[in-house]
Amino acid sequence: MSSNPATATLARMKQDIREVLIGRGAIADRIRALADQIAADLAGLGDNAEITIIPILTGSFIFVADLIRELPLKMQIRLISVSSYPGMSTTSKGARLSEQLNQLPTSLTGRHVLIVDDILDSGQTLRLVTDVIQRLEPASVRTCVLLRKQRPEIKHFPVNYVCFDIPDEFVVGFGLDYNDYYRNLPDIVALRSEVLETETVS
Ligand code: 5GP
Ligand code: MG
Repeated sequence: MSSNPATATLARMKQDIREVLIGRGAIADRIRALADQIAADLAGLGDNAEITIIPILTGSFIFVADLIRELPLKMQIRLISVSSYPGMSTTSKGARLSEQLNQLPTSLTGRHVLIVDDILDSGQTLRLVTDVIQRLEPASVRTCVLLRKQRPEIKHFPVNYVCFDIPDEFVVGFGLDYNDYYRNLPDIVALRSEVLETETVS
């Protein structure tokens, strides 16, 4: 029935999915609930609190877009980019702050910061970013992630807000990629093992 090329592409992308772990409806509900909690905490800082949201790109772009539209607070957004899973790797190669995409100001004095990332895995990324931000002397720093992997090493890693705890496996969708693909899948999914090729990035 469908000769629409877009439908064919979507069908091809769907063939790569092994399992939908969290569907778009559940994600939307949870983001709304978490946003209420964050809004209450940040509103508690007072009417004149200066709030800066710092999304870690690229993976958090869809999450943060949904989250901030549920936060009825005056805020600035400063983008930064960290890469740790280059190309076709499914294990961390060490977090690095991008020099090209870095909108951090020279000082965050007096500002309350919320760092937003897609997923907490080894904790390297959040630790790196939190350290860099602490050096800019903000009034406070909070951290928020869409996903946290259930790994023993990060059980006690300090993070303020978590949308979902997930099993320790490689996931894509809702902003998260494999080799820069699949970010536009609206659900959080696991890919079939044949799709996750042997790592080719050294
Ligand atoms: P960490 O530094 O905590 O080890 O890893 C965090 C970063 O690694 C995330 O921001 C994300 O970019 C990437 N990452 C970790 N686990 C996954 C995963 O399961 N899927 C994808 N697509 N990226 C991941
Ligand atoms: Mg990331």
